[in-house]
Amino acid sequence: MAGKIKTIPEPNKTVNVARECDVVVVGGGPGGIGAAIAAARNGADTVLIERYGHLGGMSTGGLVTIIPCLSDFSGTMQIAGINQEWIERLTAREAEIHPPEDIWGSDDSKLTSYWNDRSFFTVREERIVYASIIDAEISKCVLNEMVNEAGVKTYLHSWGAMPLMNGNKAAGVIFESKSGRQAVLSKVVIDSTGDGDLLPAAGAKFDTDIDPDIRIANLSMCYWIDNVDYMKADDFRKTNPERWGELMREIMQKGGHPGFMRSNLKNQERIVWIHPRYACSSQTDVEELTRVEMLGREIMLLTHEFFKKNIPGFENSFIVLSSPQLGTRGARRVHGDYMMTSEDLLSNDPFEDTIAVFPDLDRGKASLKHPLTYIPYRSLLPKGIENMLVACRAFSSDQEVNNYFNLIPHCVAFGEAAGTAAALSVRQGVSVRQLDFNSLRGQLITQNVPLPGAYPEKYKRKQNGKAGVYQAPLFVSQGKASM
Ligand SMILES: Cc1cc2nc3c(=O)[nH]c(=O)nc-3n(C[C@H](O)[C@H](O)[C@H](O)COP(=O)(O)OP(=O)(O)OC[C@H]3O[C@@H](n4cnc5c(N)ncnc54)[C@H](O)[C@@H]3O)c2cc1C
Repeated sequence: MAGKIKTIPEPNKTVNVARECDVVVVGGGPGGIGAAIAAARNGADTVLIERYGHLGGMSTGGLVTIIPCLSDFSGTMQIAGINQEWIERLTAREAEIHPPEDIWGSDDSKLTSYWNDRSFFTVREERIVYASIIDAEISKCVLNEMVNEAGVKTYLHSWGAMPLMNGNKAAGVIFESKSGRQAVLSKVVIDSTGDGDLLPAAGAKFDTDIDPDIRIANLSMCYWIDNVDYMKADDFRKTNPERWGELMREIMQKGGHPGFMRSNLKNQERIVWIHPRYACSSQTDVEELTRVEMLGREIMLLTHEFFKKNIPGFENSFIVLSSPQLGTRGARRVHGDYMMTSEDLLSNDPFEDTIAVFPDLDRGKASLKHPLTYIPYRSLLPKGIENMLVACRAFSSDQEVNNYFNLIPHCVAFGEAAGTAAALSVRQGVSVRQLDFNSLRGQLITQNVPLPGAYPEKYKRKQNGKAGVYQAPLFVSQGKASM
């Protein structure tokens, strides 16, 4: 809305206290899942507040089901802990696929070509890396199972409206639901909303600037098309490359989306995924979110009708699912006790308070000189605010670091560190800022989180890091994927 904003005083309200607990986590996406499970497993009475009816955030409701960057170029898994446990539970239900462990790190051209065709996230700089493709629906169930087993008290359909503050000390959260406006009082508050929704009312400083040319500047509305004869479409693409190029240019000119990715999951061979990007002026402005939600569905129809008419294999296809929640990639980024900047991507030295080690795979040749990025605990602590942690893509980082290191497994790792720290600080009777870092590090190590100088025994490579024998493909070549 342009011009001066009219304001009115809100009538005074008394709010019921729904619960008093040790740790309240707002947002049940990758960051919130890691935080709530870790806090509860470490003995904290933990409440999780999620605005939708399912957990997982972008990784389920956003239909973003690619969990990349789990190993470094050598094939060594670097993100484990709760993230790996989640994947293993999905594997056990045949609701996940990834390249076999014995080929991680391989530069065998036959292997890289096969996996690049199948899912381009599994190949970086001509090497196979560990990335997982998961089933969103089964994942919703598995995440419920994980929070329930941990003893987390979860409120779904509940919108975290604002933090309760005593001066600069967080003391709980007010949330809204069909039951009305209620409060949860807590010793520690964790903002895992992705967008840093609690930051403004907490009085925390944050940035929102994003270069329009980078990935995190875009909103998205993903969707799935079912009953596609993928092999027919792929054959057409390969045998008519010029016509294919013309068609993709034509759909782009019409405002639609060129290309699609194949699901890859068992029994989902006839489904393709589309992950469009929409430029936007803000990822937290409700008018902008509404505009893109509407636009996304309009473009979805246009694109599907075009594919159906022009691409052999799509004749009998139909739109089976559009993402229940809009795709957000970047919004507020908190100013923490330490802000990760592009300078940190030049250093290969771990921080003394490293809580996570991330493979640096996505920056082309620059990544080869900097295979690992270290995340300090201080980047989760909002400057000047007590009893609060930020465990999601709003962690303290500049645009470049955020663009590369706000992915799903990264956020689960932030969450695991934040939830563990919150529980330990409650147990030790100290603030999260005063927590003895060695106790946090020691606990993360027992949770199988790889840290500098401490690699979990459980995940040591079974074949000394050597690539194994090429396995027969499960699916035939799927062509280049597109995002
Ligand atoms: C189209 C697209 C493609 C992407 N591709 C990939 C990819 O291939 N691999 C990858 O790893 N990452 C990818 N990303 C990025 C990744 O999905 C996000 O960075 C990641 O999910 C961030 O996790 P998060 O927990 O910080 O936030 P989110 O996933 O956004 O989760 C936040 C959760 O908090 C809830 N919430 C928000 N506000 C409130 C509130 N006020 N009260 C209560 N609940 C609230 C939300 O409903 C949600 O469940 C992609 C993103 C998009 C949009």
